[in-house]
Amino acid sequence: MVSSDGPAPTRGPGSWRKATTRCRPTQRAVGRLVQVGRGEGEPRREGSWVVNPLPALRADRLAQDHDDPHEARALFDVLVAQGLRDESPTRAQALAVLRTDDDDLLDLVAAAGRVRRHRFGRRVRLNYLVNLRSGLCPEDCTYCSQRLGSTAQVLTYSWLSTEDAVAAARAGVEGGARRVCLVASGRGPSDRDVARVSAMVDGIKREHPDVEVCVCLGLLRDGQAERLAAAGADAYNHNLNTSEATYADICTTHEYADRVETVERARGAGLSPCSGLIAGMGESDEDLVDVALALRDLGADSVPVNFLVPFDGTPLAGTWDLTPQRCLRILAMVRFVCPTAELRLAAGREVHLRSLQPLALEIVSSIFLGDYLTSEGQAAQADLDLLADGGFEIDEGPGAAGARGTPGDRSEVRDPSVVASSEPGVTVRRRGPGTAVAPNA
Ligand code: SF4
Repeated sequence: MVSSDGPAPTRGPGSWRKATTRCRPTQRAVGRLVQVGRGEGEPRREGSWVVNPLPALRADRLAQDHDDPHEARALFDVLVAQGLRDESPTRAQALAVLRTDDDDLLDLVAAAGRVRRHRFGRRVRLNYLVNLRSGLCPEDCTYCSQRLGSTAQVLTYSWLSTEDAVAAARAGVEGGARRVCLVASGRGPSDRDVARVSAMVDGIKREHPDVEVCVCLGLLRDGQAERLAAAGADAYNHNLNTSEATYADICTTHEYADRVETVERARGAGLSPCSGLIAGMGESDEDLVDVALALRDLGADSVPVNFLVPFDGTPLAGTWDLTPQRCLRILAMVRFVCPTAELRLAAGREVHLRSLQPLALEIVSSIFLGDYLTSEGQAAQADLDLLADGGFEIDEGPGAAGARGTPGDRSEVRDPSVVASSEPGVTVRRRGPGTAVAPNA
């Protein structure tokens, strides 16, 4: 069998019996499990589950020997049990997830979904991006349409006014978002920039005290995170993007360690650390696993997973390495590594997951409503319909009594003629913040 992501794996020697079995906790069943795991640790009881830990050696072999569905499902069972206990998979287990066969994909999604539902039920948090300053960045991140030397035809503008930023946030909140992400291009903010954004945070919080505000301004210096927290910001986003080993391949103007330091500054100031990754930049499986494990080690409680949007005019133009199946495996791997984190399905979902977006919602607990920083997402109505069709509930956030019901309730008051395009490709944002055109929210 050939995975959609690459050549058929080489089958290793021998085959294995299931290491984890869902069963009634009878003495007979426990006895069988002890026999299977002989000499490799005792089975544990997890509610109605009896779990026999999969030793690292087996996970190593599973990473190569994954064309037996029983072996794949045994791995998934172990990952679920670990995830419910907020235990990280081993590196080998995480690699094995990325190398599962297409035939096992639905079982993988179901397993990751069990971990997702354990903490988040069927709730989906909607985020709304406000690009406060677009383009003209002095940094050279290869994946970014706003980078130094980019010839991508994206919107370029300097800081939005406080009034315009609050108005943009309002549009997202009225569309159902319960987290607003204030983002500005650049290496990092000046103290004047921090004061400017603090006023925006204050303005949004005055209108919407229950809405979370996450700020993303680049690398922070001493005291800046504290000032944003004092202004009312809830979270700070700064993505690691890829592994430490390969970071120099995607950026030369700052280092991986700079990014780690900023996430730690945010957390130290009491801001919720939001940090994620970008897949599809030519990275290896090992890079993806390493960055996911690093995000867990950093204590990121919000993890955006982006799929590269390869703008013309950037070094990664034309890089379309991802398949929808690959995207699902990546999301599942991150879910298992960060089982309690708010996993945010971010840029590129429409063009890479395409018709498999509904399956991704079984794994993640959060999506971005409407448009991204420099590209257009699918119509906001299509996002809400996606949630309604899957039986998901919009998460009203920590200040609310609970989810407000299915978003299908909202579709009745929206324009039914607004239909998302199913054509893959990059659509540069030409509406919302920085334009005179109504936002997609
Ligand atoms: S620092 Fe941010 S805005 Fe600037 S090039 Fe890198 S990702 Fe883009």
